[in-house]
Amino acid sequence: MEAHLDLSSLSRPGEACGVFGIFTTEADAAHTTYFGLFALQHRGQESAGIAVSDGDTLTVYKDMGLVAQVFNETTLTALSGGIAIGHTRYSTTGSSVWENSQPVYRQIGDNGIALAHNGNLTNTTTLAALVQNGSATTDSELMTALIAERMDDHREDLGTALASVLPRFEGAYTLTILDRNHLVGVRDPYGFRPLCLGTTDHGWVLASETAALDLVGARLVRELAPGEMVIIDDDGVTSVHPFPAVQERLCLFEFVYFARPDSMLRGQNIHRARRRMGATLAEQAPVEADVVVPVPESGIPAAQGFAEAAGIRYTDGLVKNRYVGRTFIQPAQALRDRGVRLKLNAMPAELEGKRVILVDDSIIRGSTTRQLIHLVREAGATEVHLRISSPPYRWPCFYGMDTGDRSTLLAAGRDVDEIAAFLDVDTLAYLELDRLLEATGVDGAGFCTACLSGSYPTEVPLTDVKLVLERA
Ligand code: SF4
Ligand code: MG
Repeated sequence: MEAHLDLSSLSRPGEACGVFGIFTTEADAAHTTYFGLFALQHRGQESAGIAVSDGDTLTVYKDMGLVAQVFNETTLTALSGGIAIGHTRYSTTGSSVWENSQPVYRQIGDNGIALAHNGNLTNTTTLAALVQNGSATTDSELMTALIAERMDDHREDLGTALASVLPRFEGAYTLTILDRNHLVGVRDPYGFRPLCLGTTDHGWVLASETAALDLVGARLVRELAPGEMVIIDDDGVTSVHPFPAVQERLCLFEFVYFARPDSMLRGQNIHRARRRMGATLAEQAPVEADVVVPVPESGIPAAQGFAEAAGIRYTDGLVKNRYVGRTFIQPAQALRDRGVRLKLNAMPAELEGKRVILVDDSIIRGSTTRQLIHLVREAGATEVHLRISSPPYRWPCFYGMDTGDRSTLLAAGRDVDEIAAFLDVDTLAYLELDRLLEATGVDGAGFCTACLSGSYPTEVPLTDVKLVLERA
């Protein structure tokens, strides 16, 4: 039997998912969805799926793996119809198994609905008690079951059922949903996760990020507002607001890390925002050095902004192997200890004898960062100054970022000096929250900052928070 090395400890925590939807007069919505999902692959790599309606029958195809592994020409051609939704998953609740892949399907008489979810609910226990028929493991299955049961019990159409059921859900949920002849997009009242509306010559597109619109040739109409639901059918787009208005809480980590650099969020280009984060960090925490080196790929734009603002040479001192998957055939122990080298290697030619400013966007667990700093020193750096373009990540996320075991958060219960000692750097600075918010370019408040500030916009499971509080 082959043993496998789990590289997830070396990888970054995953985003909860990418969602996509299309309503078109053409018959090949599934093909377009495939490309949309391809553009959203960075939001989840565990499973991928598409649900399609031809106006009569719903078909769902999903499997574990990357979008390009799950689908081929044969499976896509079998998915005929003009309405489709798609999903890329990174597990946040429920384990990483086929049954938890999405879209989730639920039969209602001779009709049915399929749902794709990005985010994480915080009241699943309460909701589980409300489901009448069958089982539901994940928050996404619970939502699908409750919507379907409402449609069935009250003979309601999808939009009407959603308007009455959605207010029961607490936490983060950006959804694309379809039935036979409707496509629906939803952002929860806080708008934790993004969703945008686009248009083509043949219909409408919904996507987690604008980069997916670009790939399928759709033009951005607008980002959905927090708490907005759009119902798309033959009559066009209808906008509904089923929730009382609350202050928007878009996940700040979309700007820091999750979203693609070429996406637009709240009207701002993500790459430019990340460069500004690096530039303001250079003003906040300057240090004399010879080179600025990014941790690829996450630290690249911030390092560029830092180098430019500081007037210090930018160089790629670390090289990334782009083809590392989630698991590997297990190498011998000696090799395994060098695990980080499977993903990244340091170049002495760029680092030897140099005072190095190493830039990354965040540190969650710290194990990879620590190994990296060791590599940089081994490559001959005389000093290593670590600069992080977001504040210390101290609090667990309940809204869809998989931070795993809460006790593993490096910054929980440690001050910056202790973290610097653990990582073995000469100096360490994190970008201040006010500066980060300003660097987004978005006016006013309106972000969730809970993992950085401990201030949660909704009620969250207290035991988990207490664990972190006690360590702090
Ligand atoms: Fe995003 Fe952090 Fe809020 Fe989670 S807690 S939604 S990662 S800002
Ligand atoms: Mg989830």
